[in-house]
Amino acid sequence: MNRHKRIYLSPPHMTGREQHYISQAFDSNWIAPLGPNVDAFENAIKKYANVEGALAVSSGTAAIHLALRLVGIEPGDHVFCSSFTFVASANPILYEGGIPTFIDSEPETWNMSPEALLEAFKDAAKENKLPKAVVVVHLYGQSAKMDDILAICDYYKVPVIEDAAESLGSLYKNKQSGTLGAYGVYSFNGNKIISTSGGGMLVTNDLKAIDQARFLATQARDKALHYQHSQIGHNYRMSNILAGMGIAQVEVINERVKQKREVFTRYKEAFKGMEGILFKPEAKDTVSNRWLTTMNIDPEYWAISPEELVRALEEENIEARPVWKPLHLQPLFQNNRFYKHSSECVCEKLYRTGICLPSGTSMSEEEQQRVITLLLANLDEKVTKTLVHVKGVI
Ligand SMILES: *Cc1c(COP(=O)(O)O)cnc(C)c1O
Repeated sequence: MNRHKRIYLSPPHMTGREQHYISQAFDSNWIAPLGPNVDAFENAIKKYANVEGALAVSSGTAAIHLALRLVGIEPGDHVFCSSFTFVASANPILYEGGIPTFIDSEPETWNMSPEALLEAFKDAAKENKLPKAVVVVHLYGQSAKMDDILAICDYYKVPVIEDAAESLGSLYKNKQSGTLGAYGVYSFNGNKIISTSGGGMLVTNDLKAIDQARFLATQARDKALHYQHSQIGHNYRMSNILAGMGIAQVEVINERVKQKREVFTRYKEAFKGMEGILFKPEAKDTVSNRWLTTMNIDPEYWAISPEELVRALEEENIEARPVWKPLHLQPLFQNNRFYKHSSECVCEKLYRTGICLPSGTSMSEEEQQRVITLLLANLDEKVTKTLVHVKGVI
């Protein structure tokens, strides 16, 4: 066992109030199904994000799936999706027999390139195969260039699904991330900025759509005394116990954003003035929740690769990760189309040089200093690389 306490990438951070709402559910025996905590959690998110409708579900992935059902996806339909993201952004397209086309990032936000998106649309229009939807991801809490993306999608009359799983609490021109497109999706998985241990939320200003999503997420049971079904349904609702955690977690979302941003600032300060070390910029008119602090290491300056750095940290019981591997590079999607930002593939370069640093809101300053010291020791210069290998041998 390592002598140090493990530092995780982004562990759940409870407030202590969760137990209160969970106890209420137990005291009233409202364990299942649904119940008052679910309603209260949905209302809290509506209020926080300033959106008309919200549906609490079992995961962010389920919420993306429901959004795709709402846009009426059918087998063989095309969907455009950010390439630089977690596989859950695209898997629900496959659940419905849809065909994802992946779109590169642009360098300012690391998110969907409007230029590449426009190229994809032009080709699709020529081939008479416009997509049913566009799934835009706000990676690591940074909002994509929504004005440009929405303008293109509006022109082609294609709805936008915002995968805001990582960006609850982030702002785009003073609007909450996830509330600009037709549908928005949040995740409350264990490592997200707030957590219900597992869960998700679908949001939209279209109340009819939320009713339809509620129907589909509850086994699509028709209005009848007996059990009658005319459509395929899902069992996607959130439990009343977990929703209790969610109520307490929403109460602290702004505090969590502040803490995440402080973690980021401490990392950034520690590497100030070092050439070839890049932190993700915050784009104009946006506020990032800084869900995970990422660091890019320019191989022209530093000999150590992200993978080697992740391993070096692991030896000291610190969890770091490479940034998401772009989906167009995944074996699962080897036959899918991909549109580059320019002659250079932006997301691939970011992937080859980037790592996610421990960014837990409960991480102490001393713990973060331990991470920083180790990073600096490993980054020192080319000689250091040799030392890491020697250490491995001993
Ligand atoms: C976490 C995540 C999801 C999936 O959310 P779950 O609640 O784990 O299903 C989807 N997209 C992105 C970008 C994520 O980071």
